[in-house]
Amino acid sequence: MRTRTTIPLAVAAVTVAATALVGGTAVAAAPAPATPSAAAAASTEHVVVIGIDGALLDRIAAADAPNLDAMIASGYSSKTSLYASPMAPTLSGPGWATNLTGVWPDKHRVLSNTWGTTTGLDRYPDFLTRLERANSALTTYADASWNPIVDGSVGTPLVQTVDQRYAASSDADAAANAVSTLRTTGPNASFVHFDDVDHAGHSYGAASQQYLDAIAEVDGYVGQLRAAVQSRPTYSSERWSFIVTADHGHTDAGGHGGSTPAERSAFILKTGPGIAKQTPAIRPKNVDIAADVLATFGVARPADLDGRPLATVSTDPFDTMVGALRPRVDETGIPAGTLGWTHSMPSGWSVDNTGMGTGGVTEWAGWSLTTDEFWTQSQRDQSRETNVRERGVFAVADSDEWADKTHTGTFDSRITSQPYSVAGKTSATVSFGNHYRQDGTQRATVLVSFDGGAFRQVASYASDHIAQTASVPVTVPAGAKQVRVQWALTDADNAWYWAIDDPQVR
Ligand SMILES: [Zn+2]
Repeated sequence: MRTRTTIPLAVAAVTVAATALVGGTAVAAAPAPATPSAAAAASTEHVVVIGIDGALLDRIAAADAPNLDAMIASGYSSKTSLYASPMAPTLSGPGWATNLTGVWPDKHRVLSNTWGTTTGLDRYPDFLTRLERANSALTTYADASWNPIVDGSVGTPLVQTVDQRYAASSDADAAANAVSTLRTTGPNASFVHFDDVDHAGHSYGAASQQYLDAIAEVDGYVGQLRAAVQSRPTYSSERWSFIVTADHGHTDAGGHGGSTPAERSAFILKTGPGIAKQTPAIRPKNVDIAADVLATFGVARPADLDGRPLATVSTDPFDTMVGALRPRVDETGIPAGTLGWTHSMPSGWSVDNTGMGTGGVTEWAGWSLTTDEFWTQSQRDQSRETNVRERGVFAVADSDEWADKTHTGTFDSRITSQPYSVAGKTSATVSFGNHYRQDGTQRATVLVSFDGGAFRQVASYASDHIAQTASVPVTVPAGAKQVRVQWALTDADNAWYWAIDDPQVR
């Protein structure tokens, strides 16, 4: 917990168009594609993504919100957590861009609420635009109470290509337009945004009755949207799913943008055909919403999309240890009821701490398994919050947190994988989530051992690798049958950390 220099936020200066907000008006749609796909088929699938700005899942239960309560009682529901600075602040621009594009802010580059036109949105468009490009016969609709999502007033609209778009003058106006559109047009894919919960959060705080009242109000709009869909004459022959999410949370006193768990907090609810009540043990991420919608319509997911469909089953060996996670021992800032660390390892995995000093913070004495919720609360604002591409349970070697209690020696720990078959191969690729911060003499190395032989280095890191995915090519010796992979964090004296996840050998 020693004082750290804040990493500068790498925000390019942007020129903000001085366009006035236009409330309650339909915004001119982007030009239609020159060659619409005549062969593209209509779909019976329909998805309505509802965005409730600044809403906290924990406060829905306390509010008079029967429609959202019913979604939680019958469908998929989970908390999620977002990034923090220096990747992006917990603001609406980055939050809605993440939900709509399915990539994190280091790709979509919407880093504020005045994001301008120099972003990554051209390369990473919203899911409505991706649906239109894949199949222009699909009908799409976007309706936002916070107009910059659809109107381009502060930069590239977050929804770029869509059949119908509406910049609403209020949440009531947004709801009225959505009710009418869902009942009549019945678009295949819709995004409808409500802003009043965020307004109440700013004015009165998330702990206030006014914040609960705003959730109740928006809950009524959610009910109106669902009723509008059910009133369609063709409803019985259509498939409708509803997803509800948020762009950030709020502090009890009101406000967001920072790195507290409440500000980083969001959630995903989903109901629809084939979805049973469930709260997944491995939490989804907000980037999954776009991936899930694309999957609903059978549209291929680009390889560089960060999200995955909500029903995806984890194949990460670390996630098998979710039931072994324990409460804090020496850490003091993490709530006592939060389960989030263990030195137990998955079957076939081991940790070698023979080079470690003694003492230190128990939770981080050598490689540990942990979660975002637990690890980020050990100390905020040191880029642990930007470990956005690792999910569920991941492995951490954290020399900085370990050194916060009396200890001798340095941090020197090695985690070794289960054996992977390489029989008959001449090469393999070791891939893993790679979130690494360099400091001092700290060394991070990846090593491999074939059939019990000596470990030899295949990769090392001497500079920051934030929210990366590593892909390390390995030559397989003739006749080798199995390989083990080792990640070693050594010579670390109150330095930084290394977090790895989802290791694979292909
Ligand atoms: Zn706000």
